[in-house]
Amino acid sequence: MARIIDGKALASKLRERVATGVAEFHALTGRAPGLDVVLVGDDPASAVYTRNKEKAAAEVGIRGALHRLPTTTTEAELLEFVQRLNADPAIDGILVQLPLPNGIDPNRVTDAIDPSKDVDGFHPVNAGMLCVGREGLVPCTPRGCMALLDAHLAAIGAGPDLGGKHAVVIGRSNIVGKPMAQLLLARNATVTVAHSRTRDLPALCRTADVLVAAVGRPKMVGADWIKPGAIVLDVGINRTAEGKLCGDVDTEAAMTVAGAVTPVPGGVGPMTIAMLLENTLTAASRRVG
Ligand code: NDP
Repeated sequence: MARIIDGKALASKLRERVATGVAEFHALTGRAPGLDVVLVGDDPASAVYTRNKEKAAAEVGIRGALHRLPTTTTEAELLEFVQRLNADPAIDGILVQLPLPNGIDPNRVTDAIDPSKDVDGFHPVNAGMLCVGREGLVPCTPRGCMALLDAHLAAIGAGPDLGGKHAVVIGRSNIVGKPMAQLLLARNATVTVAHSRTRDLPALCRTADVLVAAVGRPKMVGADWIKPGAIVLDVGINRTAEGKLCGDVDTEAAMTVAGAVTPVPGGVGPMTIAMLLENTLTAASRRVG
Protein backbone atom coordinates (compact mmCIF):
# COMPACT_ATOMS: atom_id res chain seq x y z
CA MET A 1 0.00 0.00 0.00
CA ALA A 2 1.35 3.39 -1.02
CA ARG A 3 2.38 6.06 1.44
CA ILE A 4 0.13 9.14 1.48
CA ILE A 5 2.14 12.36 1.26
CA ASP A 6 0.34 14.74 3.61
CA GLY A 7 0.28 18.19 2.00
CA LYS A 8 -1.81 19.72 4.76
CA ALA A 9 0.74 18.87 7.43
CA LEU A 10 3.69 19.96 5.30
CA ALA A 11 1.98 23.24 4.36
CA SER A 12 1.29 23.97 8.00
CA LYS A 13 5.01 23.49 8.84
CA LEU A 14 5.98 25.74 5.93
CA ARG A 15 3.56 28.45 7.08
CA GLU A 16 5.14 28.36 10.54
CA ARG A 17 8.56 28.81 8.94
CA VAL A 18 7.26 31.71 6.84
CA ALA A 19 5.70 33.32 9.94
CA THR A 20 9.10 33.23 11.65
CA GLY A 21 10.74 34.75 8.56
CA VAL A 22 8.07 37.45 8.39
CA ALA A 23 8.67 38.37 12.06
CA GLU A 24 12.41 38.63 11.36
CA PHE A 25 11.72 40.78 8.28
CA HIS A 26 9.51 43.05 10.39
CA ALA A 27 12.15 43.38 13.10
CA LEU A 28 14.73 44.29 10.48
CA THR A 29 12.71 46.72 8.35
CA GLY A 30 9.95 48.01 10.64
CA ARG A 31 7.23 46.80 8.28
CA ALA A 32 5.49 43.60 7.22
CA PRO A 33 5.96 42.17 3.72
CA GLY A 34 3.00 43.23 1.56
CA LEU A 35 0.98 41.05 -0.81
CA ASP A 36 -1.62 42.73 -3.01
CA VAL A 37 -4.14 40.55 -4.78
CA VAL A 38 -6.25 41.92 -7.63
CA LEU A 39 -9.61 40.39 -8.51
CA VAL A 40 -11.43 41.66 -11.58
CA GLY A 41 -15.10 40.75 -11.90
CA ASP A 42 -17.26 38.47 -9.81
CA ASP A 43 -16.28 34.91 -10.69
CA PRO A 44 -17.36 33.04 -7.52
CA ALA A 45 -14.46 30.53 -7.55
CA SER A 46 -11.91 33.35 -7.98
CA ALA A 47 -13.57 35.26 -5.13
CA VAL A 48 -13.04 32.24 -2.83
CA TYR A 49 -9.41 31.74 -3.96
CA THR A 50 -8.49 35.40 -3.46
CA ARG A 51 -10.16 35.57 -0.03
CA ASN A 52 -8.25 32.43 1.01
CA LYS A 53 -4.97 33.98 -0.13
CA GLU A 54 -5.64 37.20 1.77
CA LYS A 55 -6.59 35.24 4.91
CA ALA A 56 -3.53 32.97 4.66
CA ALA A 57 -1.29 36.03 4.31
CA ALA A 58 -2.74 37.65 7.43
CA GLU A 59 -2.23 34.42 9.42
CA VAL A 60 1.55 34.54 8.90
CA GLY A 61 1.82 38.30 9.49
CA ILE A 62 1.99 39.37 5.83
CA ARG A 63 0.05 42.58 5.11
CA GLY A 64 -2.50 41.37 2.59
CA ALA A 65 -4.77 43.56 0.51
CA LEU A 66 -7.52 42.42 -1.82
CA HIS A 67 -8.48 44.87 -4.57
CA ARG A 68 -11.85 44.08 -6.14
CA LEU A 69 -12.31 45.76 -9.49
CA PRO A 70 -15.62 45.71 -11.38
CA THR A 71 -16.26 43.45 -14.40
CA THR A 72 -16.45 46.63 -16.51
CA THR A 73 -12.72 47.36 -15.85
CA THR A 74 -10.90 47.87 -19.15
CA GLU A 75 -7.48 46.45 -19.96
CA ALA A 76 -6.00 49.97 -19.89
CA GLU A 77 -7.46 50.61 -16.44
CA LEU A 78 -6.14 47.32 -15.11
CA LEU A 79 -2.67 47.96 -16.56
CA GLU A 80 -2.64 51.38 -14.92
CA PHE A 81 -3.70 49.84 -11.61
CA VAL A 82 -0.86 47.31 -11.83
CA GLN A 83 1.60 50.13 -12.52
CA ARG A 84 0.48 51.85 -9.32
CA LEU A 85 1.11 48.66 -7.34
CA ASN A 86 4.53 48.28 -9.03
CA ALA A 87 5.47 51.79 -7.90
CA ASP A 88 4.38 51.36 -4.27
CA PRO A 89 7.44 50.52 -2.12
CA ALA A 90 5.29 48.89 0.60
CA ILE A 91 4.10 46.23 -1.86
CA ASP A 92 6.40 43.22 -2.33
CA GLY A 93 4.07 40.80 -4.09
CA ILE A 94 1.42 41.39 -6.76
CA LEU A 95 -0.99 38.73 -7.91
CA VAL A 96 -3.69 39.27 -10.51
CA GLN A 97 -6.18 36.42 -10.20
CA LEU A 98 -6.86 34.52 -13.43
CA PRO A 99 -9.03 34.07 -15.42
CA LEU A 100 -9.68 37.69 -16.39
CA PRO A 101 -12.95 38.86 -17.97
CA ASN A 102 -13.24 38.77 -21.77
CA GLY A 103 -11.55 41.70 -23.45
CA ILE A 104 -8.53 41.74 -21.14
CA ASP A 105 -5.45 39.99 -22.48
CA PRO A 106 -3.93 38.01 -19.58
CA ASN A 107 -0.48 38.07 -21.24
CA ARG A 108 -0.41 41.87 -21.30
CA VAL A 109 -1.37 41.95 -17.63
CA THR A 110 1.24 39.35 -16.63
CA ASP A 111 3.87 41.24 -18.61
CA ALA A 112 2.97 44.49 -16.79
CA ILE A 113 3.79 43.13 -13.32
CA ASP A 114 7.26 44.04 -12.03
CA PRO A 115 9.12 40.67 -12.22
CA SER A 116 10.61 41.26 -8.76
CA LYS A 117 7.03 41.43 -7.35
CA ASP A 118 5.64 38.61 -9.51
CA VAL A 119 4.91 36.13 -6.70
CA ASP A 120 2.98 33.85 -9.07
CA GLY A 121 6.18 33.47 -11.11
CA PHE A 122 4.25 33.80 -14.40
CA HIS A 123 6.16 36.75 -15.89
CA PRO A 124 8.28 35.74 -18.93
CA VAL A 125 11.39 37.02 -17.11
CA ASN A 126 10.76 34.62 -14.23
CA ALA A 127 9.86 31.76 -16.61
CA GLY A 128 13.13 32.45 -18.44
CA MET A 129 15.14 32.56 -15.21
CA LEU A 130 13.80 29.13 -14.28
CA CYS A 131 14.64 27.83 -17.75
CA VAL A 132 18.28 28.97 -17.57
CA GLY A 133 18.70 27.90 -13.93
CA ARG A 134 18.97 31.38 -12.44
CA GLU A 135 17.32 32.86 -9.38
CA GLY A 136 13.84 34.27 -10.03
CA LEU A 137 10.39 33.67 -8.59
CA VAL A 138 9.10 30.16 -9.31
CA PRO A 139 5.39 29.30 -9.77
CA CYS A 140 3.79 28.17 -6.52
CA THR A 141 2.16 24.89 -7.56
CA PRO A 142 5.27 23.24 -9.06
CA ARG A 143 7.32 24.48 -6.08
CA GLY A 144 4.74 22.87 -3.82
CA CYS A 145 5.05 19.61 -5.76
CA MET A 146 8.83 19.64 -5.36
CA ALA A 147 8.49 20.23 -1.60
CA LEU A 148 6.10 17.26 -1.34
CA LEU A 149 8.51 15.12 -3.34
CA ASP A 150 11.42 16.18 -1.12
CA ALA A 151 9.47 15.48 2.05
CA HIS A 152 8.69 11.99 0.79
CA LEU A 153 12.27 11.28 -0.31
CA ALA A 154 13.54 12.43 3.09
CA ALA A 155 10.96 10.26 4.86
CA ILE A 156 12.16 7.14 3.04
CA GLY A 157 15.82 8.04 3.60
CA ALA A 158 16.54 8.93 -0.05
CA GLY A 159 18.43 12.01 -1.18
CA PRO A 160 16.88 14.80 -3.30
CA ASP A 161 18.87 13.93 -6.43
CA LEU A 162 16.75 12.34 -9.18
CA GLY A 163 19.66 11.27 -11.38
CA GLY A 164 18.78 8.12 -13.32
CA LYS A 165 15.07 8.51 -12.60
CA HIS A 166 12.43 9.05 -15.25
CA ALA A 167 9.87 11.74 -14.49
CA VAL A 168 6.73 12.09 -16.60
CA VAL A 169 4.71 15.29 -16.34
CA ILE A 170 1.24 15.11 -17.88
CA GLY A 171 0.28 18.67 -18.88
CA ARG A 172 2.28 21.46 -20.49
CA SER A 173 0.66 24.63 -19.16
CA ASN A 174 2.85 27.61 -18.38
CA ILE A 175 1.71 27.65 -14.76
CA VAL A 176 2.13 23.97 -13.87
CA GLY A 177 3.43 21.49 -16.47
CA LYS A 178 6.33 23.42 -17.99
CA PRO A 179 7.80 24.86 -14.77
CA MET A 180 7.35 21.45 -13.11
CA ALA A 181 9.40 19.84 -15.88
CA GLN A 182 12.15 22.45 -15.41
CA LEU A 183 12.32 21.84 -11.66
CA LEU A 184 12.58 18.07 -12.15
CA LEU A 185 15.24 18.56 -14.82
CA ALA A 186 17.23 20.76 -12.43
CA ARG A 187 17.24 17.75 -10.06
CA ASN A 188 18.80 15.60 -12.79
CA ALA A 189 15.67 13.61 -13.60
CA THR A 190 15.16 12.52 -17.21
CA VAL A 191 11.94 14.35 -17.96
CA THR A 192 9.17 13.65 -20.45
CA VAL A 193 6.35 16.16 -20.84
CA ALA A 194 3.12 14.58 -22.07
CA HIS A 195 -0.01 16.35 -23.33
CA SER A 196 -3.21 15.81 -25.27
CA ARG A 197 -1.32 14.79 -28.44
CA THR A 198 0.87 12.19 -26.73
CA ARG A 199 0.40 8.68 -28.03
CA ASP A 200 -0.23 5.76 -25.68
CA LEU A 201 -0.06 7.83 -22.53
CA PRO A 202 -0.71 4.88 -20.15
CA ALA A 203 2.35 3.03 -21.49
CA LEU A 204 4.51 6.14 -21.18
CA CYS A 205 3.32 6.77 -17.63
CA ARG A 206 4.14 3.17 -16.68
CA THR A 207 7.81 4.01 -17.26
CA ALA A 208 7.75 6.89 -14.75
CA ASP A 209 9.51 6.75 -11.40
CA VAL A 210 7.94 10.13 -10.67
CA LEU A 211 4.56 10.83 -12.24
CA VAL A 212 3.00 14.30 -12.10
CA ALA A 213 -0.60 14.67 -13.29
CA ALA A 214 -1.60 18.26 -14.13
CA VAL A 215 -4.43 17.82 -16.60
CA GLY A 216 -7.84 18.65 -15.17
CA ARG A 217 -9.52 15.30 -15.92
CA PRO A 218 -11.13 13.52 -12.98
CA LYS A 219 -9.37 10.25 -12.04
CA MET A 220 -7.76 9.90 -15.48
CA VAL A 221 -4.68 8.12 -14.12
CA GLY A 222 -5.63 4.60 -13.07
CA ALA A 223 -3.64 1.83 -11.41
CA ASP A 224 -2.61 0.41 -14.82
CA TRP A 225 -0.84 3.72 -15.65
CA ILE A 226 1.51 3.47 -12.69
CA LYS A 227 4.88 1.76 -12.34
CA PRO A 228 5.05 -0.27 -9.12
CA GLY A 229 6.66 1.88 -6.40
CA ALA A 230 6.36 5.17 -8.35
CA ILE A 231 5.86 8.52 -6.64
CA VAL A 232 2.63 10.08 -7.90
CA LEU A 233 1.95 13.81 -7.51
CA ASP A 234 -1.65 14.74 -8.29
CA VAL A 235 -2.12 18.42 -9.18
CA GLY A 236 -5.64 18.15 -10.60
CA ILE A 237 -8.61 19.73 -8.88
CA ASN A 238 -11.86 18.41 -10.31
CA ARG A 239 -15.39 17.62 -9.26
CA THR A 240 -16.96 14.20 -9.72
CA ALA A 241 -20.49 13.89 -11.11
CA GLU A 242 -21.64 13.76 -7.47
CA GLY A 243 -19.92 17.08 -6.77
CA LYS A 244 -17.07 15.60 -4.72
CA LEU A 245 -13.55 17.03 -5.08
CA CYS A 246 -11.07 14.71 -6.82
CA GLY A 247 -7.73 14.83 -8.59
CA ASP A 248 -6.49 13.61 -11.96
CA VAL A 249 -5.47 10.35 -10.32
CA ASP A 250 -7.77 7.60 -9.12
CA THR A 251 -6.16 7.72 -5.68
CA GLU A 252 -7.68 4.56 -4.29
CA ALA A 253 -6.57 2.51 -7.29
CA ALA A 254 -3.15 4.20 -7.41
CA MET A 255 -2.54 3.31 -3.76
CA THR A 256 -2.43 -0.38 -4.67
CA VAL A 257 0.53 0.08 -7.04
CA ALA A 258 2.42 3.31 -6.27
CA GLY A 259 5.06 3.88 -3.62
CA ALA A 260 3.58 7.22 -2.63
CA VAL A 261 0.63 9.37 -3.66
CA THR A 262 -0.53 12.91 -2.86
CA PRO A 263 -4.24 13.02 -1.94
CA VAL A 264 -6.87 15.43 -3.29
CA PRO A 265 -7.84 17.37 -1.28
CA GLY A 266 -4.97 17.76 1.17
CA GLY A 267 -2.01 17.31 -1.17
CA VAL A 268 -0.74 19.87 -3.67
CA GLY A 269 -3.54 22.41 -2.99
CA PRO A 270 -2.47 23.52 0.51
CA MET A 271 1.17 23.64 -0.63
CA THR A 272 0.31 26.11 -3.40
CA ILE A 273 -0.94 28.76 -0.96
CA ALA A 274 1.95 28.13 1.45
CA MET A 275 4.40 28.64 -1.44
CA LEU A 276 2.68 31.90 -2.37
CA LEU A 277 3.39 33.14 1.15
CA GLU A 278 6.99 31.99 0.92
CA ASN A 279 7.40 33.65 -2.50
CA THR A 280 6.09 36.91 -0.99
CA LEU A 281 8.63 36.73 1.84
CA THR A 282 11.37 35.91 -0.68
CA ALA A 283 10.38 38.85 -2.91
CA ALA A 284 10.30 41.19 0.10
CA SER A 285 13.69 40.02 1.38
CA ARG A 286 15.32 40.41 -2.05
CA ARG A 287 13.82 43.87 -2.51
CA VAL A 288 15.32 45.17 0.74
CA GLY A 289 18.61 43.49 -0.19
P1 NDP B 1 -4.47 23.58 -18.44
O1 NDP B 1 -5.86 23.32 -18.88
O2 NDP B 1 -3.84 24.89 -18.71
O3 NDP B 1 -3.52 22.43 -19.02
C1 NDP B 1 -3.92 21.11 -19.05
C2 NDP B 1 -2.89 20.28 -19.75
O4 NDP B 1 -3.35 18.94 -19.80
C3 NDP B 1 -2.63 20.70 -21.21
O5 NDP B 1 -1.26 20.73 -21.47
C4 NDP B 1 -3.35 19.63 -22.02
O6 NDP B 1 -2.71 19.32 -23.25
C5 NDP B 1 -3.23 18.43 -21.11
N1 NDP B 1 -4.30 17.48 -21.39
C6 NDP B 1 -5.62 17.71 -21.51
N2 NDP B 1 -6.28 16.57 -21.78
C7 NDP B 1 -5.36 15.61 -21.86
C8 NDP B 1 -5.40 14.21 -22.12
N3 NDP B 1 -6.55 13.59 -22.35
N4 NDP B 1 -4.25 13.53 -22.12
C9 NDP B 1 -3.08 14.15 -21.88
N5 NDP B 1 -2.96 15.45 -21.62
C10 NDP B 1 -4.09 16.18 -21.60
O7 NDP B 1 -4.51 23.27 -16.86
P2 NDP B 1 -3.52 23.72 -15.67
O8 NDP B 1 -2.13 23.28 -15.95
O9 NDP B 1 -3.79 25.12 -15.32
O10 NDP B 1 -4.12 22.83 -14.49
C11 NDP B 1 -4.16 21.42 -14.55
C12 NDP B 1 -4.98 20.90 -13.38
O11 NDP B 1 -4.36 21.30 -12.17
C13 NDP B 1 -6.41 21.45 -13.29
O12 NDP B 1 -7.23 20.44 -12.73
C14 NDP B 1 -6.31 22.59 -12.32
O13 NDP B 1 -7.52 22.85 -11.64
C15 NDP B 1 -5.27 22.05 -11.37
N6 NDP B 1 -4.51 23.07 -10.66
C16 NDP B 1 -4.32 22.85 -9.33
C17 NDP B 1 -3.59 23.72 -8.58
C18 NDP B 1 -3.40 23.40 -7.15
O14 NDP B 1 -3.07 24.27 -6.38
N7 NDP B 1 -3.51 22.13 -6.73
C19 NDP B 1 -3.03 24.94 -9.15
C20 NDP B 1 -3.18 25.04 -10.60
C21 NDP B 1 -3.93 24.13 -11.30
P3 NDP B 1 -2.62 20.35 -24.49
O15 NDP B 1 -1.58 21.36 -24.09
O16 NDP B 1 -2.20 19.50 -25.62
O17 NDP B 1 -3.98 20.96 -24.62
